[in-house]
Amino acid sequence: MSDPATPAPGWPFWVGTSWKMNGLPDDARSYAERIAAVDDWHGVLPFVMPPFTVLADVARLLRDSPVQVGGQNMHWDECGSWTGEISAPMLRQCGATMVELGHSERRRHFGETDQTVNLKVHAALRHGLTPLVCIGETQAERDGGVADLILARQVRLALHGLTAAHVGRVMFAYEPVWAIGEAGRPAPPELVAQAAAGIRQELDRAAGAPGVSPPLLYGGSVNLENAAPYAALAGIDGLFVGRAAWTAEGYAALARAAARPPCRGP
Ligand code: PEP
Repeated sequence: MSDPATPAPGWPFWVGTSWKMNGLPDDARSYAERIAAVDDWHGVLPFVMPPFTVLADVARLLRDSPVQVGGQNMHWDECGSWTGEISAPMLRQCGATMVELGHSERRRHFGETDQTVNLKVHAALRHGLTPLVCIGETQAERDGGVADLILARQVRLALHGLTAAHVGRVMFAYEPVWAIGEAGRPAPPELVAQAAAGIRQELDRAAGAPGVSPPLLYGGSVNLENAAPYAALAGIDGLFVGRAAWTAEGYAALARAAARPPCRGP
């Protein structure tokens, strides 16, 4: 039997979405109003990550709902000469409680590195934001047999310098680069389970004990058909979704599909 004070693995279960560079003010407000009206999230912990330009509006509309709001990136400094950047205090003031860091599109197109992700993780925690760190291997890295090494490296460097207590306040999303976006192919659940087991070892090591390490979400071409099989994987604590959750109805339907009974045992 598990200790009743220790949550069962895989529970609570997160279902979140990043809108990426989508969402003009009217559409964003309409999306937020629709999900604010959802009266039963079936026990999942919902979160949305809209673009900065609508974040404050979305957060205001969701203030009395269980849906948390996060930014899609931020700078590690509080303020200063960083043209075009957004800081953790700015996100907090807009109503964000979370921030996505290290998405593969930011690593690939905008020079994000494991080192800058680490600086941002520290800054997020300093300012009371929950960092959601995205990690994942490319197809070439998987073909070359180094996927597990790459994932372990990304985890270790993201958590570098944190105390064990702080490690438990970070969230991770395993997002194979080859599984994401328009050209993505959904990862086979067995592959996700195997990668998640390796990532979990790293997280447990950093947290200093099994059972208290960060939640690990899966992301990459999640849709209504495959949400339940991914959600059923023992090592996965949530789903992080792009395209399939870009309508309020799509997002709510995914949350329903992923919902699991709260008393699910280990
Ligand atoms: C993503 O880009 O993080 C993602 C999960 O996208 P999609 O669901 O559209 O593959």
